[in-house]
Amino acid sequence: MNVTVVGAGIAGLTAAWRLQRAGCDVVVVEASDRPGGRMTTDLIDGHAVDRGAQFLSTRYRVILDLLREFDLEAQWCESTQRSAIVKGGRPLAMEATRPLDARQLVPTASLLRLAWHRWRSARRVERADTSSYASWAAVDDVTLSGWLRQHAGQDVLEYIFEPMVHGFYFQTPEETSFALGMVLMEFGVRRSRTCALRDGLGVLPQALAGRLDVRYESPVISIERRDGCFAVQATAGVVATDGVVVAVPAPMAKRILVSSGTPLDLDTAARDLLLTEYSASINVACLLDEAFELPDPLRCCYGLLVPRLERGAIAAVGIENNKRPTAHGRACHLNLMFDADAAQAHMRDDEAAIVDVALRDVRPWLGDLSRHVRQSRVFRWPLAEPKSRVGRARLIATYRQHCACDGPKVVLAGDYVGMPFTEGAAESGEWAASSLLAAMTGESSAA
Ligand SMILES: Cc1cc2nc3c(=O)[nH]c(=O)nc-3n(C[C@H](O)[C@H](O)[C@H](O)COP(=O)(O)OP(=O)(O)OC[C@H]3O[C@@H](n4cnc5c(N)ncnc54)[C@H](O)[C@@H]3O)c2cc1C
Repeated sequence: MNVTVVGAGIAGLTAAWRLQRAGCDVVVVEASDRPGGRMTTDLIDGHAVDRGAQFLSTRYRVILDLLREFDLEAQWCESTQRSAIVKGGRPLAMEATRPLDARQLVPTASLLRLAWHRWRSARRVERADTSSYASWAAVDDVTLSGWLRQHAGQDVLEYIFEPMVHGFYFQTPEETSFALGMVLMEFGVRRSRTCALRDGLGVLPQALAGRLDVRYESPVISIERRDGCFAVQATAGVVATDGVVVAVPAPMAKRILVSSGTPLDLDTAARDLLLTEYSASINVACLLDEAFELPDPLRCCYGLLVPRLERGAIAAVGIENNKRPTAHGRACHLNLMFDADAAQAHMRDDEAAIVDVALRDVRPWLGDLSRHVRQSRVFRWPLAEPKSRVGRARLIATYRQHCACDGPKVVLAGDYVGMPFTEGAAESGEWAASSLLAAMTGESSAA
């Protein structure tokens, strides 16, 4: 069986790898000149700089399996497990293993109310799977902000969840489902630990792509049904195939599928998923000289989140030396991430102007960095993360049910068809591969 995978991000590569292992002849068609999409790493002055995705977690089941399969376990490194949130203009550091450290941010009574109501809601979720967003459909019925105001209070909303939801996904709690809030709490309850890869997260997509037939610099334009199979039309030519996994962000997938002249078995849920909106961000990577020292509260932190009540342009700071403590020399490396509105406002500015905004913005917490910057690099992400509005988890569950019943041979994958992070993208790729295999083998056995 011939299969074509469109897009060499972690979703497409995972799907392709699983299909190849199952005996399919797989071709991956990718628009850019490298694998990994939003999970890529650049080497700058000997430093591995993660361009998009920054952190992994010990709860990332599919990614961990892939790392094992590719003998990359030695790449795995734990961050310091200490992070900070700004309150009253000061970064307050907290240990991930000590949930009560959050008392620095909100009253203990609010934390207890939160814990009680989370426990009650958790009973509605049958399978609390932090890799599969569809499994949270039962609690995907209210906004995160609405639920928190009712059950935990405004301070928990503004100083715990808003900075996390914006710092991780660049979106507001008002446009985010309670389902994603429950997922965040599940990571906490399960004591998940924050991790990274020694040579950058791009190492994993690189390894996958190295074992697959990937055709680079060949954007796919359309997919046509032709004589019982499919013709994938890319700028570099046409690939004839028995099944397709479309693993590109929703707006690109919509363009490809809508330009296709023939119906491709897309049900209503698939069409709705293709309308998923995305948040934007810009990541400014700064390599600093050896004279720079992290201020005291941040000395052992791998990250800093800035709540909307306290921030200008920067929502999150990754402190690379503490993210990968064993991989660094003395020089400090920071990743400064723009909040969604600021990213939209500055997306087309030139690089120097963006760096300037970022450095000015973090001055209250990190001091005057401009004197210390040796190198900087700007990564623009107009489609940084899929928004998890109320209903997305339910939509994914419905779409997956449709695929199980009707076995379409054009299947969607990507973080908008799963959790809105690398693990969700990989899990959606794994799911798409098994869905397509079932559809194709069903037909061949019937034939
Ligand atoms: C700034 C930032 C920080 C993040 N931080 C984290 C984090 O800390 N932890 C985490 O787990 N996740 C994080 N994420 C999210 C994570 O990067 C994504 O969820 C994940 O990488 C998405 O993978 P994907 O395969 O679905 O899509 P993508 O990585 O976007 O891959 C899609 C691929 O399709 C290709 N493509 C597009 N159009 C076409 C076409 N027409 N034809 C062929 N190919 C095409 C693209 O070039 C790309 O390679 C972050 C994202 C950003 C932007």
